[in-house]
Amino acid sequence: MRRSKWLALLSVILVLGLAVTGVLTAKLYAADETAATGAATGAAVETAVETEAAGVADTETPALVSTPVTTEEEEAEPVEKLKFTTKSKEVQLGKSKTFKVNLSGVKWKSSKPKVASVSKNGKITGKKIGTTKITATVGDQKVSINVKVYAIIGIDAGHQSRANLNMEPIGPGSSEKKIKVSGGTSGVSSHIAEYVLTLDIAKALKAELKDRGYKVVLTRNRHDVDISNVERAKKLNKKCNIAIRLHADGSTNSSIKGASALYPGRDNKYVANLSDESKKLSDALMKCYISETGLNNRGLYVRNDLTGTNWSTIPVSLIEMGYMTNSSDDRYMASADGRKAMVKGLADGVDAYYGVSR
Ligand SMILES: [Zn+2]
Repeated sequence: MRRSKWLALLSVILVLGLAVTGVLTAKLYAADETAATGAATGAAVETAVETEAAGVADTETPALVSTPVTTEEEEAEPVEKLKFTTKSKEVQLGKSKTFKVNLSGVKWKSSKPKVASVSKNGKITGKKIGTTKITATVGDQKVSINVKVYAIIGIDAGHQSRANLNMEPIGPGSSEKKIKVSGGTSGVSSHIAEYVLTLDIAKALKAELKDRGYKVVLTRNRHDVDISNVERAKKLNKKCNIAIRLHADGSTNSSIKGASALYPGRDNKYVANLSDESKKLSDALMKCYISETGLNNRGLYVRNDLTGTNWSTIPVSLIEMGYMTNSSDDRYMASADGRKAMVKGLADGVDAYYGVSR
Protein backbone atom coordinates (compact mmCIF):
# COMPACT_ATOMS: atom_id res chain seq x y z
CA MET A 1 0.00 0.00 0.00
CA ARG A 2 2.77 2.33 0.88
CA ARG A 3 4.29 1.78 -2.53
CA SER A 4 1.04 2.37 -4.38
CA LYS A 5 0.46 5.53 -2.35
CA TRP A 6 3.90 6.78 -3.39
CA LEU A 7 3.17 5.94 -6.98
CA ALA A 8 -0.11 7.77 -6.77
CA LEU A 9 1.65 10.76 -5.30
CA LEU A 10 4.24 10.59 -8.05
CA SER A 11 1.47 10.45 -10.64
CA VAL A 12 -0.11 13.50 -9.10
CA ILE A 13 3.22 15.31 -9.12
CA LEU A 14 3.80 14.31 -12.73
CA VAL A 15 0.37 15.41 -13.79
CA LEU A 16 0.79 18.68 -11.95
CA GLY A 17 4.26 19.00 -13.40
CA LEU A 18 2.93 18.48 -16.91
CA ALA A 19 0.20 20.97 -16.29
CA VAL A 20 2.66 23.52 -15.02
CA THR A 21 4.92 22.88 -18.01
CA GLY A 22 1.94 23.33 -20.33
CA VAL A 23 1.04 26.65 -18.77
CA LEU A 24 4.62 27.69 -18.82
CA THR A 25 4.92 26.71 -22.48
CA ALA A 26 1.75 28.56 -23.27
CA LYS A 27 3.12 31.56 -21.38
CA LEU A 28 6.36 31.25 -23.26
CA TYR A 29 4.51 31.19 -26.60
CA ALA A 30 2.51 34.14 -25.47
CA ALA A 31 5.68 35.81 -24.44
CA ASP A 32 7.17 35.06 -27.84
CA GLU A 33 4.16 36.49 -29.59
CA THR A 34 4.33 39.54 -27.44
CA ALA A 35 8.00 39.69 -28.10
CA ALA A 36 7.37 39.31 -31.81
CA THR A 37 4.70 41.98 -31.75
CA GLY A 38 6.89 44.08 -29.62
CA ALA A 39 9.71 43.60 -32.04
CA ALA A 40 7.45 44.58 -34.92
CA THR A 41 6.21 47.61 -33.00
CA GLY A 42 9.77 48.38 -32.11
CA ALA A 43 10.74 48.23 -35.76
CA ALA A 44 7.86 50.48 -36.66
CA VAL A 45 8.82 52.87 -33.92
CA GLU A 46 12.39 52.74 -35.07
CA THR A 47 11.28 53.52 -38.62
CA ALA A 48 9.15 56.31 -37.33
CA VAL A 49 12.04 57.60 -35.33
CA GLU A 50 14.24 57.36 -38.36
CA THR A 51 11.69 59.24 -40.40
CA GLU A 52 11.38 61.78 -37.70
CA ALA A 53 15.09 61.96 -37.42
CA ALA A 54 15.25 62.44 -41.14
CA GLY A 55 12.58 65.09 -40.81
CA VAL A 56 14.52 66.76 -38.10
CA ALA A 57 17.60 66.46 -40.22
CA ASP A 58 15.76 68.12 -43.08
CA THR A 59 14.78 71.08 -41.06
CA GLU A 60 17.62 71.31 -38.67
CA THR A 61 20.56 70.53 -40.88
CA PRO A 62 19.95 73.36 -43.36
CA ALA A 63 19.15 75.57 -40.41
CA LEU A 64 22.50 74.70 -38.98
CA VAL A 65 24.20 75.12 -42.32
CA SER A 66 22.34 78.32 -43.04
CA THR A 67 23.05 79.83 -39.65
CA PRO A 68 26.34 81.33 -40.75
CA VAL A 69 24.69 82.45 -43.99
CA THR A 70 21.94 84.12 -42.01
CA THR A 71 24.58 85.76 -39.89
CA GLU A 72 26.43 86.84 -42.99
CA GLU A 73 23.20 88.21 -44.43
CA GLU A 74 22.50 90.05 -41.27
CA GLU A 75 26.00 91.41 -41.28
CA ALA A 76 25.87 92.12 -45.02
CA GLU A 77 22.45 93.76 -44.97
CA PRO A 78 23.64 97.29 -44.29
CA VAL A 79 26.13 96.86 -47.16
CA GLU A 80 23.50 95.35 -49.50
CA LYS A 81 21.70 98.64 -49.72
CA LEU A 82 18.73 98.78 -52.08
CA LYS A 83 19.67 100.60 -55.25
CA PHE A 84 18.73 100.85 -58.91
CA THR A 85 20.89 98.77 -61.24
CA THR A 86 19.28 100.37 -64.30
CA LYS A 87 21.48 103.32 -65.24
CA SER A 88 18.90 105.08 -67.38
CA LYS A 89 16.54 107.65 -65.88
CA GLU A 90 14.31 108.20 -68.87
CA VAL A 91 11.78 106.47 -71.06
CA GLN A 92 10.42 107.47 -74.44
CA LEU A 93 6.81 108.52 -74.74
CA GLY A 94 4.71 105.53 -75.79
CA LYS A 95 7.54 103.08 -75.14
CA SER A 96 8.38 100.82 -72.18
CA LYS A 97 11.57 100.01 -70.36
CA THR A 98 12.04 97.55 -67.48
CA PHE A 99 13.89 99.05 -64.53
CA LYS A 100 15.75 96.85 -62.04
CA VAL A 101 17.13 97.06 -58.51
CA ASN A 102 19.78 94.90 -56.83
CA LEU A 103 17.33 93.05 -54.53
CA SER A 104 14.29 90.89 -55.28
CA GLY A 105 10.73 91.11 -54.01
CA VAL A 106 10.24 94.69 -55.12
CA LYS A 107 7.07 96.73 -54.90
CA TRP A 108 6.96 99.49 -57.53
CA LYS A 109 5.19 102.82 -57.48
CA SER A 110 4.96 105.84 -59.77
CA SER A 111 4.13 109.21 -58.20
CA LYS A 112 2.50 110.34 -61.47
CA PRO A 113 0.94 107.33 -63.21
CA LYS A 114 -0.39 109.66 -65.92
CA VAL A 115 3.20 110.55 -66.86
CA ALA A 116 4.53 106.98 -66.59
CA SER A 117 2.96 103.83 -65.24
CA VAL A 118 4.98 101.05 -63.62
CA SER A 119 4.01 97.37 -63.62
CA LYS A 120 4.68 94.94 -60.76
CA ASN A 121 7.74 93.79 -62.73
CA GLY A 122 9.23 97.28 -62.93
CA LYS A 123 8.21 97.90 -66.54
CA ILE A 124 7.84 101.65 -66.93
CA THR A 125 5.68 102.97 -69.76
CA GLY A 126 5.92 106.61 -70.88
CA LYS A 127 2.45 108.14 -71.20
CA LYS A 128 2.92 111.90 -71.13
CA ILE A 129 5.84 114.32 -71.34
CA GLY A 130 7.05 115.08 -67.83
CA THR A 131 8.85 113.61 -64.85
CA THR A 132 7.60 111.07 -62.33
CA LYS A 133 9.16 109.68 -59.17
CA ILE A 134 9.55 105.91 -59.38
CA THR A 135 9.90 104.23 -55.99
CA ALA A 136 11.06 100.66 -55.39
CA THR A 137 10.36 99.16 -51.97
CA VAL A 138 11.94 95.97 -50.60
CA GLY A 139 11.03 95.24 -46.97
CA ASP A 140 11.69 98.44 -45.07
CA GLN A 141 14.14 99.73 -47.67
CA LYS A 142 13.00 102.30 -50.20
CA VAL A 143 14.74 103.93 -53.13
CA SER A 144 13.46 106.51 -55.64
CA ILE A 145 14.55 108.05 -58.91
CA ASN A 146 13.03 110.72 -61.09
CA VAL A 147 12.23 109.23 -64.47
CA LYS A 148 11.78 111.61 -67.39
CA VAL A 149 9.36 110.84 -70.20
CA TYR A 150 10.60 112.39 -73.43
CA ALA A 151 9.48 112.53 -77.05
CA ILE A 152 11.63 112.18 -80.14
CA ILE A 153 10.74 114.77 -82.74
CA GLY A 154 11.47 113.92 -86.34
CA ILE A 155 12.23 116.85 -88.63
CA ASP A 156 12.54 116.53 -92.37
CA ALA A 157 14.19 119.49 -94.03
CA GLY A 158 12.42 119.36 -97.37
CA HIS A 159 14.35 118.81 -100.62
CA GLN A 160 18.13 118.64 -101.20
CA SER A 161 20.71 120.35 -103.41
CA ARG A 162 19.76 118.24 -106.42
CA ALA A 163 16.36 116.77 -107.25
CA ASN A 164 16.03 113.04 -107.84
CA LEU A 165 13.60 112.55 -110.72
CA ASN A 166 13.38 108.77 -110.36
CA MET A 167 9.97 107.49 -109.36
CA GLU A 168 8.69 105.85 -106.19
CA PRO A 169 5.21 104.76 -105.00
CA ILE A 170 3.23 107.53 -103.27
CA GLY A 171 2.15 105.10 -100.55
CA PRO A 172 2.86 101.56 -99.37
CA GLY A 173 1.60 99.12 -102.02
CA SER A 174 0.62 101.91 -104.41
CA SER A 175 1.00 101.62 -108.19
CA GLU A 176 0.79 105.43 -108.41
CA LYS A 177 4.25 107.00 -108.44
CA LYS A 178 5.86 110.41 -108.00
CA ILE A 179 9.43 111.62 -108.35
CA LYS A 180 11.66 110.80 -105.38
CA VAL A 181 12.65 114.37 -104.48
CA SER A 182 11.50 117.50 -106.31
CA GLY A 183 13.64 120.58 -106.74
CA GLY A 184 11.66 122.96 -104.56
CA THR A 185 11.18 126.69 -104.90
CA SER A 186 13.48 129.64 -104.12
CA GLY A 187 13.33 133.15 -102.73
CA VAL A 188 12.17 135.83 -105.12
CA SER A 189 14.11 138.51 -103.20
CA SER A 190 16.58 136.55 -101.08
CA HIS A 191 17.47 134.05 -103.82
CA ILE A 192 17.78 131.47 -101.09
CA ALA A 193 16.90 127.94 -102.26
CA GLU A 194 14.06 126.21 -100.43
CA TYR A 195 16.37 123.32 -99.43
CA VAL A 196 18.70 125.83 -97.72
CA LEU A 197 15.89 127.55 -95.84
CA THR A 198 14.39 124.24 -94.67
CA LEU A 199 17.71 122.92 -93.34
CA ASP A 200 18.52 126.22 -91.59
CA ILE A 201 15.16 126.14 -89.81
CA ALA A 202 15.46 122.38 -89.12
CA LYS A 203 18.83 122.81 -87.43
CA ALA A 204 17.68 125.81 -85.38
CA LEU A 205 14.47 124.01 -84.41
CA LYS A 206 16.49 120.98 -83.37
CA ALA A 207 18.60 123.12 -81.04
CA GLU A 208 15.52 124.80 -79.57
CA LEU A 209 13.68 121.50 -79.02
CA LYS A 210 16.74 119.96 -77.39
CA ASP A 211 16.89 122.94 -75.02
CA ARG A 212 13.30 122.11 -74.12
CA GLY A 213 14.14 118.48 -73.30
CA TYR A 214 13.12 116.79 -76.53
CA LYS A 215 15.27 114.48 -78.60
CA VAL A 216 15.45 115.22 -82.28
CA VAL A 217 16.15 113.24 -85.43
CA LEU A 218 16.86 115.07 -88.69
CA THR A 219 16.50 113.31 -92.04
CA ARG A 220 19.53 115.22 -93.30
CA ASN A 221 22.30 117.47 -91.97
CA ARG A 222 23.64 118.71 -95.27
CA HIS A 223 22.47 119.58 -98.76
CA ASP A 224 24.37 117.15 -100.99
CA VAL A 225 22.37 114.07 -100.06
CA ASP A 226 20.09 111.81 -102.06
CA ILE A 227 17.29 110.72 -99.76
CA SER A 228 13.88 110.06 -101.29
CA ASN A 229 10.65 111.02 -99.58
CA VAL A 230 9.93 107.35 -98.81
CA GLU A 231 13.37 106.99 -97.21
CA ARG A 232 12.86 110.17 -95.18
CA ALA A 233 9.57 108.88 -93.81
CA LYS A 234 11.08 105.50 -92.99
CA LYS A 235 14.01 107.10 -91.19
CA LEU A 236 11.68 109.09 -88.92
CA ASN A 237 9.27 106.17 -88.42
CA LYS A 238 12.05 104.12 -86.84
CA LYS A 239 12.57 106.21 -83.72
CA CYS A 240 10.33 109.26 -83.60
CA ASN A 241 7.01 110.07 -81.98
CA ILE A 242 5.99 112.67 -84.56
CA ALA A 243 7.25 113.94 -87.91
CA ILE A 244 7.43 117.58 -88.96
CA ARG A 245 8.11 118.14 -92.63
CA LEU A 246 9.47 121.63 -93.33
CA HIS A 247 8.79 123.27 -96.69
CA ALA A 248 8.13 126.67 -98.19
CA ASP A 249 5.60 127.44 -100.90
CA GLY A 250 5.96 128.85 -104.37
CA SER A 251 3.47 130.23 -106.84
CA THR A 252 3.38 132.01 -110.16
CA ASN A 253 1.15 134.52 -108.38
CA SER A 254 3.57 136.59 -106.30
CA SER A 255 0.80 138.14 -104.21
CA ILE A 256 -0.10 134.84 -102.54
CA LYS A 257 1.47 134.68 -99.11
CA GLY A 258 1.22 132.99 -95.78
CA ALA A 259 1.73 129.66 -94.08
CA SER A 260 -0.30 126.45 -94.08
CA ALA A 261 -0.12 122.92 -92.71
CA LEU A 262 -0.86 119.77 -94.71
CA TYR A 263 -2.03 116.56 -93.09
CA PRO A 264 -3.50 113.22 -94.27
CA GLY A 265 -7.28 112.98 -94.35
CA ARG A 266 -9.54 110.38 -92.81
CA ASP A 267 -10.09 109.13 -96.37
CA ASN A 268 -6.36 108.66 -96.98
CA LYS A 269 -5.70 105.21 -98.49
CA TYR A 270 -2.52 104.65 -96.50
CA VAL A 271 -2.57 106.57 -93.23
CA ALA A 272 -6.22 107.32 -92.44
CA ASN A 273 -5.45 106.09 -88.91
CA LEU A 274 -3.01 109.00 -88.47
CA SER A 275 -5.41 111.66 -89.69
CA ASP A 276 -6.82 112.88 -86.37
CA GLU A 277 -3.48 113.06 -84.55
CA SER A 278 -1.82 114.64 -87.59
CA LYS A 279 -4.56 117.27 -87.71
CA LYS A 280 -4.12 117.92 -83.99
CA LEU A 281 -0.36 118.31 -84.52
CA SER A 282 -0.87 120.59 -87.55
CA ASP A 283 -3.33 122.73 -85.63
CA ALA A 284 -0.99 123.12 -82.63
CA LEU A 285 1.98 123.98 -84.89
CA MET A 286 0.04 126.48 -86.98
CA LYS A 287 -1.58 128.30 -84.07
CA CYS A 288 1.77 128.91 -82.38
CA TYR A 289 3.63 129.59 -85.64
CA ILE A 290 1.14 132.23 -86.79
CA SER A 291 0.90 133.77 -83.33
CA GLU A 292 4.69 134.09 -83.13
CA THR A 293 5.41 135.18 -86.72
CA GLY A 294 2.31 137.15 -87.61
CA LEU A 295 2.38 135.61 -91.11
CA ASN A 296 -0.85 135.17 -93.04
CA ASN A 297 -2.70 132.08 -91.82
CA ARG A 298 -3.77 129.98 -94.79
CA GLY A 299 -5.01 127.22 -92.50
CA LEU A 300 -4.94 123.44 -92.56
CA TYR A 301 -5.32 121.34 -95.69
CA VAL A 302 -5.97 117.66 -96.19
CA ARG A 303 -3.48 116.22 -98.67
CA ASN A 304 -3.49 112.55 -99.61
CA ASP A 305 -0.97 112.75 -102.46
CA LEU A 306 2.21 113.43 -100.44
CA THR A 307 4.66 110.51 -100.53
CA GLY A 308 6.53 111.51 -97.38
CA THR A 309 3.25 111.76 -95.50
CA ASN A 310 1.68 108.58 -96.87
CA TRP A 311 4.67 106.46 -95.82
CA SER A 312 4.59 107.77 -92.28
CA THR A 313 3.63 105.55 -89.37
CA ILE A 314 3.62 108.42 -86.85
CA PRO A 315 1.52 111.62 -86.71
CA VAL A 316 2.85 113.86 -89.44
CA SER A 317 2.44 117.48 -90.46
CA LEU A 318 3.94 119.26 -93.46
CA ILE A 319 4.42 122.95 -92.71
CA GLU A 320 4.54 125.34 -95.63
CA MET A 321 6.33 128.08 -93.69
CA GLY A 322 5.54 130.87 -96.14
CA TYR A 323 5.68 131.81 -99.84
CA MET A 324 9.18 132.25 -101.18
CA THR A 325 7.62 133.72 -104.31
CA ASN A 326 6.12 136.53 -102.24
CA SER A 327 8.76 139.14 -101.47
CA SER A 328 7.34 140.02 -98.06
CA ASP A 329 7.26 136.40 -96.87
CA ASP A 330 10.63 135.71 -98.49
CA ARG A 331 12.35 138.62 -96.80
CA TYR A 332 10.79 137.69 -93.48
CA MET A 333 11.97 134.05 -93.72
CA ALA A 334 15.47 135.18 -94.72
CA SER A 335 15.81 137.53 -91.73
CA ALA A 336 17.36 136.58 -88.39
CA ASP A 337 14.38 137.93 -86.44
CA GLY A 338 11.90 136.18 -88.71
CA ARG A 339 13.70 132.87 -88.32
CA LYS A 340 13.91 133.26 -84.57
CA ALA A 341 10.15 133.73 -84.42
CA MET A 342 9.53 130.84 -86.84
CA VAL A 343 11.61 128.48 -84.71
CA LYS A 344 10.04 129.62 -81.46
CA GLY A 345 6.56 129.28 -82.98
CA LEU A 346 7.22 125.72 -84.16
CA ALA A 347 8.78 124.68 -80.84
CA ASP A 348 5.84 126.21 -78.97
CA GLY A 349 3.59 124.20 -81.28
CA VAL A 350 5.34 120.97 -80.29
CA ASP A 351 4.90 121.91 -76.62
CA ALA A 352 1.23 122.72 -77.25
CA TYR A 353 0.69 119.39 -79.00
CA TYR A 354 2.10 117.55 -75.99
CA GLY A 355 0.32 119.78 -73.47
CA VAL A 356 3.60 121.07 -72.07
CA SER A 357 3.42 124.52 -70.49
CA ARG A 358 6.56 126.43 -69.55
ZN1 LIG B 1 8.90 121.99 -100.77
